[in-house]
Amino acid sequence: MPDRFADIALPIPSRKPFTYSVGDDLASSVQPGVRVAVPFRGRTLPGIVTRVHDVAPAFEARPIGGLLDAEPLFDAALLAFLVEAADYYLHPVGEVLRAAAPALRSDALRTLRSRGVIDRVEELKGARVATRARTLVKPVADAPRPPRLGSSQQALLALLAERGSAHIDELGGLVSDPRAVVRSLERKGLVTTESHEDTSNPFFQTPVEPDIPPEPTLPQAEATTAIVDALGGPPRSFLLYGITGSGKTEVYLRAIAEARSRGLGALLLVPEIALTPQLVGRFRARFGDDIAVLHSALTDRERTLAWRALRSGAVTLAIGARSALFAPVHRLGIVIVDEEHDPSYKQEEGFRYHARDLALLRSHRAGAVCVLGSATPSLESWQLAHEGRHRRLDLPARPGSRTLPPVEVIHLATQRAGPSGDPRLSGPLHRAIETCLAGGGQGILFLNRRGFAPSLRCEACGEVETCPACSVPLTEHRKAGLLRCHYCDFATPVGRACSKCGQPGLVPLGMGTEKLEDTLARVFAPARVARLDRDTASGNSIEDVLGRVRRREIDLLVGTQMVTKGHDLPGVTLVGVLLADQSLVFPDFRAAERTFQLLTQVAGRAGRGDAPGRVLIQTYQPHHPAVRAASHHDYETFVAHELEARRDLGYAPFGRLVAVRVDHADRSACEAAAATLAEHARALAPVRSGRVEVLGPAPAPIERVRGRFRHRLLLRGAERPALRHVAHHVLQRIERGLGGARASVDVDPVSML
Ligand code: ADP
Ligand code: ZN
Repeated sequence: MPDRFADIALPIPSRKPFTYSVGDDLASSVQPGVRVAVPFRGRTLPGIVTRVHDVAPAFEARPIGGLLDAEPLFDAALLAFLVEAADYYLHPVGEVLRAAAPALRSDALRTLRSRGVIDRVEELKGARVATRARTLVKPVADAPRPPRLGSSQQALLALLAERGSAHIDELGGLVSDPRAVVRSLERKGLVTTESHEDTSNPFFQTPVEPDIPPEPTLPQAEATTAIVDALGGPPRSFLLYGITGSGKTEVYLRAIAEARSRGLGALLLVPEIALTPQLVGRFRARFGDDIAVLHSALTDRERTLAWRALRSGAVTLAIGARSALFAPVHRLGIVIVDEEHDPSYKQEEGFRYHARDLALLRSHRAGAVCVLGSATPSLESWQLAHEGRHRRLDLPARPGSRTLPPVEVIHLATQRAGPSGDPRLSGPLHRAIETCLAGGGQGILFLNRRGFAPSLRCEACGEVETCPACSVPLTEHRKAGLLRCHYCDFATPVGRACSKCGQPGLVPLGMGTEKLEDTLARVFAPARVARLDRDTASGNSIEDVLGRVRRREIDLLVGTQMVTKGHDLPGVTLVGVLLADQSLVFPDFRAAERTFQLLTQVAGRAGRGDAPGRVLIQTYQPHHPAVRAASHHDYETFVAHELEARRDLGYAPFGRLVAVRVDHADRSACEAAAATLAEHARALAPVRSGRVEVLGPAPAPIERVRGRFRHRLLLRGAERPALRHVAHHVLQRIERGLGGARASVDVDPVSML
C-alpha cells in the first residue's frame, strides 16, 4: 500500500492546508471532512482534512496525532463549497472551516487529552446548558391505513400529514391524551417517535397556533410554481422582486413545504434574526417546531445539537442570519435569501464574505435552487437578472385591496418649525401625527441616529467634542448620563467641560432617537411612545417592543433602521422619515441605493392592515433621484438611473473592487505602509495590461478608530482574474510584514468607511 497523506486545514492565518502522513491505524477513518488533532509548532491543533492523497510532499510529513470525529463534519459538496469560498475571499481555509464547524465535543477531547494525543485545545471551554427531552412524532410514509381509526387518531394523522411532524406537548389542544393516542398509533405502525433534547431557545418560548395558508394570489402561485418546478433539476436562481407587503414570505413557505415533501432540505437566510421573531413565528405556524433557528445567542451545545440534527436530516429547515449559510442541511434543495439587498449579509470582520453571493455559490454546488427576495433588489442582483443569470419573478401588488401608501416629500429648507417649536418636526409631519393618533392609528418615526444628540459643541471655543481615540464626535446619551463614542467603548459623564478649552457649556447639536422619543412623548401626550434602536434592543426586548406595538399598547414607535426591516404591523398607518438625507451624505458609491432602500422599506411598513397608510419624508434634497423615486415607489426608474451612473464610474455591478485596509497607531507609519502596498500593487497592475486600477492610498473617511490610523487603497477592475492576481500579490506582501501595520484585504467590499 502506498503511503497516504492528508491535507489539513488548521485554524491559523494560513491560506494553504498543511500535509501530514496518515498512519496505518487511521487509514480507514481519515477522509475529507473529518477533524483530526495534529502537532504544529510545538502545539497540538484541531484541523480538518480537506483531501487525502498519495503525493509525498518535499519535506518529511509528520503523522496525524488522532481522530476527533468518527464521521466527516461536511459532506463533499459542502466541503468543496467552503474551500472555494475561502479561496474566493482570499481567506485562510482553516478559519473558514472552523467557523462552519460546531464546537468540538468535550468528551472526545478529554479522552484524547488523557491519552496525551492533544494538550491545549481552545474549544474545551464549550458551555453546557440544562436541557430536557422532548418527543417528536412523525408519520410513517406509505403505511397501510387500518380500516378503523378513532377520531383522535385521525385528527392527529391529519395534522402530521399537513405539518410533517409535531412535538407531543404541542398536541394537547388537538386531542385529550396525546401520549396515549401517539402510543396506539405507534403500535399500529403509523407513526414513529424520537426524543431529542430541547433547549431554552428564545424563538420557541411561546407556543404558536398552526396557521391556515391563505389562497395565493396569481403572481404568488406563478412564482411558487416556477421555483417548485426547478427543484431537483439543474441548479437555478431566481430574483423574487415583490413590493413591500406583496406576500413574498408566502412564496417562501410554499416552496419550502414542497421541497420538504420531496425529502429536500431548506435554508432560509434573514438579515438580522433578532429582528425577525415574527417571521420565525410564521414558519413555526406552518411547519411546527421542527426548525433549527440559528442565532448568535446559542450556546456551543445548542449549536452542536442543531448542527447534528441538520446534518443527519432529522431537521430539514434552518433559519438564521448570514452565518446560517454554513449550516449542514442534509440533501439541500433550496436556499432562500430574504431581503437580499440588506448590507448585514456582508461580514465585516475576519472572514469578510457576502452571504448572498455565497448562497448562490453554495446552492449551485449543492444542486439546489436559490431564491433572492426583495422589494428593492441590490443593483448586483438586478443586473444579473437583466443578463438572464437569475430568472425574475414579480409580485407587483399587495394581496386583496391593500395598496402602497402615498408618499409626501417635505422640503425642510422651506418649512418653519411646526407647533412643537422643533425645526426637525415640520408642521405637515406634526399634523400627520395628530391625525394618525386621532384616528386610532399607529405611527413609525424613522431617524437613523441613536442617542439624544449626535454631537456637542463648546459655546466658548466652538469646537465639536470628539472621541479621544477616534476621529468622530461624541454622542450624548442623556438617559445613561454619558457622552459616548459609537466606534469604540469610550464614555465620559455628561456635563463635563470642553476637552479643548476647559470651559463648561457643551451644547447639544441635532437630534437622535432618544431626543425624538422625549419630544414626541411631551408634544403628543398622552400618546404612548417607544423606541427601538441598538441602545434599547437587547435580547428579547426587540420582540417585546414589537409585541407591544402589535397589541396596540404603543402609539408611536421611534427608531433607527431597525424599524425599517420587514415588520408586518397591521395597525401602522403613518410612517414619518425625519431626515432622508442622512444616508445620502455618506462617502460611499452605494449611498443613493442605500437611501432608496431604506426609504422604500420604511414606507412599506405603512398601510399593511385594513386601514390605508400614509408616508411623509422630510429632506433637504427633495429632488434627489433616490428621494424622488422612493416617493413614487418607483424602483425601476431609480435603478435605471443608478445603473447608468455606476457604469460610467466603473463601480459594481460593472466594475469589481477589492479594498485593502491598513491601520497603525502612528499616522505616518500607516501612510507609509499603505504607500508600500499601493506601490506593490501598481508594479503588478500593468502586467495584466492595465486592467486593474489602483486608487489611493488615502485616509479612510473616519481616519482614526480605537487609537489607530486607517488608510486604504482600492483595486478596481472589470475582470475578476486580473483583480485577483493583484489582490493575491498584495496579500503576500502583507504576509511578509509591514513594520507593525495591520492590513487586510476585502473582496467585493460593502462598507466604504
Ligand atoms: P412581504 O414579505 O412581501 O413584505 P408578507 O409576506 O409579510 O409581505 O405579506 C404581507 C401580508 O400579506 C401578511 O400579513 C400576509 O399574511 C398577507 N398575505 C400574504 N399572502 C396573502 C394572500 N395570498 N392572501 C391574503 N393575505 C396574504
Ligand atoms: Zn472612539
